[in-house]
Amino acid sequence: MAEAANPFSSLQEQVDDAVGYVSGIDDGVLNRLKHPERVLEANLTVEMDDGGLEVFKAFRSQFNGDRGPYKGGIRYHPNVSRDEVKALSGWMVYKCAVVDIPYGGGKGGIVIDPSEYTADELERITRAFAAELRPLIGADRDIPAPDVNTGQREMNWIKDSYETLEGTTAPGVVTGKAIDSGGSAGRVEATGRSTMLTAREAFSYLDRDISDATVAVQGYGNAGSVTAQLLSEEFGASIVAVSDSSGAIYDPDGFDAVAVEEFKHETGSVEGYVGAVEEITNEELLTLDVDLLVPAALENAIDADIASDVQADVIAEAANGPITPDADDVLAERDVMVVPDILANAGGVTVSYFEWVQNRQRFYWTEQRVNDELERVITDAFDGLVSAYEEKDLPTLRVAAYVVAIERVARAFEQAGSWP
Ligand code: GLU
Repeated sequence: MAEAANPFSSLQEQVDDAVGYVSGIDDGVLNRLKHPERVLEANLTVEMDDGGLEVFKAFRSQFNGDRGPYKGGIRYHPNVSRDEVKALSGWMVYKCAVVDIPYGGGKGGIVIDPSEYTADELERITRAFAAELRPLIGADRDIPAPDVNTGQREMNWIKDSYETLEGTTAPGVVTGKAIDSGGSAGRVEATGRSTMLTAREAFSYLDRDISDATVAVQGYGNAGSVTAQLLSEEFGASIVAVSDSSGAIYDPDGFDAVAVEEFKHETGSVEGYVGAVEEITNEELLTLDVDLLVPAALENAIDADIASDVQADVIAEAANGPITPDADDVLAERDVMVVPDILANAGGVTVSYFEWVQNRQRFYWTEQRVNDELERVITDAFDGLVSAYEEKDLPTLRVAAYVVAIERVARAFEQAGSWP
């Protein structure tokens, strides 16, 4: 098997692939578009429950702030690395620009397997990271949010740490909080909701009926499970395979997506789910003969080898960076339509933006309003990509997304003039 792609190189390649279609980007600006402005690297020394000390490496990359405060999640995973965080922060820049919300991009992470630590330990680790982040973050500077293995609990701790250290209230310093701590209705479901909406738009663009679609979902965390539930609830699409890090399950007649999620919640994995007809491998899931494939786990799920065996007609990327640039070329050649991550999963950050607006106004919206505004943002952005794709005769929707995004970021940079 080929060596896994470096996500930071993938991001840079994606920018290079698109920039040729954007006029007026000189080498200096291009270089700016391919590198983070700064990266914090910290070693968090934290007391464990047994009284011993442990050191955790943590990062926060602030990639680009030309369109607004840096924005992006914080991930807890053993494979977090400096390059991964840099890539993820760049993807946030272009994601926020594609959906035209007034943010730059950032991302953070701690190198940790959170399942090996108690809740008290995770709280101390999170607060230690929040103390390191304190000079960098703020509602007008850099706004963290949930990502892989973090959620409302961690965001509530970061908010409380920041507010305690600053001696103020500042709910807009993080998004993805619990409702009672200043969170927004609809934020938990928002990433999966945008993946569902973009899949709907893609099928309608192809003149295909999504209600007949069979679907395979790789990764059954927040993004994957909500996408599956909404696809079956809204359209009656049939979820024939799902997986998580423990394995994959298959049922040609389709799963009850809610029951699988409840099973995973209780047992920790989808493996062993009673409704499964067959247990299959992750690679078998990715190459199943389905209409729609939703990679919703981590980077590099689909490399060029797997891409040449993919049988789905449409892929909607709920994860960040699940398809390597080499795999993208193979899929384009094979006419598989890929709805790129920077649009398909942009619902998360879009509803984060709504949460931040509500925090600033201290006025809260109904879930219906959140979902309606989200649908407008995502369908407008989808239409914008399709227009660029057709008018400029671009090779893929990913290139179209980067063309639209790069134009917006570069314009903001140029309009700001020179400093110093
Ligand atoms: N972690 C999510 C993403 O990758 C959400 C980021 C946010 O809400 O700021 O888009």
